[in-house]
Amino acid sequence: MFRKVLIANRGEIALRLHRACREMGIHTVAVHSTADSEAMAVRLADESVCIGPPPARDSYLNIPAILSAAAVTGADAIHPGIGFLAENSRFAKIVEEHGFTFIGPSPAHIDVMGDKVAAKRTMIELGVPTVPGSDGVVEDLDEARPVADAMGYPVLIKAVAGGGGRGMKVAWTAEELSTQMSLARAEARAAFGDDSVYIEKYLPDPRHIEVQILADQHGNVVHFGERDCSVQRRHQKLVEEAPSPVLSAAARAEIGRLSTDAVRRLGYRGVGTLEFLYQDGAFYFIEMNTRLQVEHPVSEAITGVDLVREQLRVAMGEPLGYGQEEIAFDGHAIECRINAEHPETFIPSPGRVNSYHAPGGLGVRVDSALYDGYTVPPYYDSLIAKVIVRGRSRDECLARLARSLEELVISGVATNQALHVAIVQDPAFRSGQYTIRWLESWLAERSA
Ligand code: ADP
Repeated sequence: MFRKVLIANRGEIALRLHRACREMGIHTVAVHSTADSEAMAVRLADESVCIGPPPARDSYLNIPAILSAAAVTGADAIHPGIGFLAENSRFAKIVEEHGFTFIGPSPAHIDVMGDKVAAKRTMIELGVPTVPGSDGVVEDLDEARPVADAMGYPVLIKAVAGGGGRGMKVAWTAEELSTQMSLARAEARAAFGDDSVYIEKYLPDPRHIEVQILADQHGNVVHFGERDCSVQRRHQKLVEEAPSPVLSAAARAEIGRLSTDAVRRLGYRGVGTLEFLYQDGAFYFIEMNTRLQVEHPVSEAITGVDLVREQLRVAMGEPLGYGQEEIAFDGHAIECRINAEHPETFIPSPGRVNSYHAPGGLGVRVDSALYDGYTVPPYYDSLIAKVIVRGRSRDECLARLARSLEELVISGVATNQALHVAIVQDPAFRSGQYTIRWLESWLAERSA
């Protein structure tokens, strides 16, 4: 049993992790940069340690400072949260070498899934369908051209180290291949320090459907159903829902079984997500995230399971204690990501939040570290709140979401709240018939 967990993150997710620990009687240590000394997780945690100045590389990515904080506070385990060091295998390894438990999968599993080419190869070996593409990295244009020509355009050039939609460019024609490949490489080099790329068939109009899995250290694996994350801008998710409005019960069962089988054979432990594109009734694996995800609350809302609690339990070596058939799916849930950004230009809008009021009532959950007078620092991600709503049906959920967004007040910084209000009212969104292209074309139409 963990006595004390160090939370190596910030913002709403640090608070989310603290809450799960608290309910389990586990003491928490919040680490923070000097920009976050007034943060909600810092205020609520049992102990807190300042680990450096505002830039993430000096604080939330500062491995020696985080390990020192764990040592001085006597923590048993470190939870990396989402982003920052969550998918850094070197960090996971160092944590374990220093005698702390890393709350996450083994460094080897982080490594294989962090390399998107290796991840795809692994999934192919495990019998999971993937998007057709190059057999591994393409070194240069001479290697890329025959692959793309054979596959047919459009093709997508993707960074091997990719994440957050960066290092990804579409070549619509053979003429565009050279330029788009250079652009993808440059973006990948800047974002990840690694410019290796591979090629995939560009699916014209898919949905993004992902499966939440959980594995203990004893070979038990379950899934918590799928999340549909097709509402995206620049390949980044904005609204997520569960279940997907377009999956049949048979398709749902099939992708759940395929995902748990693959994860079981992989010998994986912890929470994880297999991401797929879904088009014309077929699934294509694109990547696996070896961590908790921002959108995990929609799965919690329809299953009633606290995924962070489960993550902590399996990290302590406890067996799951239940099987797939004991996970009951009930109702429909949608999450809106509220970002501190200009609703039309999407430019981040840090600053002081003069007043904050969260919606409430039956079926409404808000994960946010905001409070009146809080200052959103300019150094980090602009996600400031997640509004998660559950209803017995999708229609009930939509009505509840619309009224929750009406109740939400965040003043002092610009947010994308109005955009969410418009999305929720839109007939295409309401019908459930949208794909990953929908939001961008909708935005383009609105600004025309
Ligand atoms: P990242 O790790 O950068 O998030 P992913 O591989 O998860 O990249 O893809 C992010 C998003 O990019 C997907 O949800 C989808 O919208 C789009 N995408 C990725 N691969 C393809 C593809 N082969 N065809 C069309 N869209 C794709």
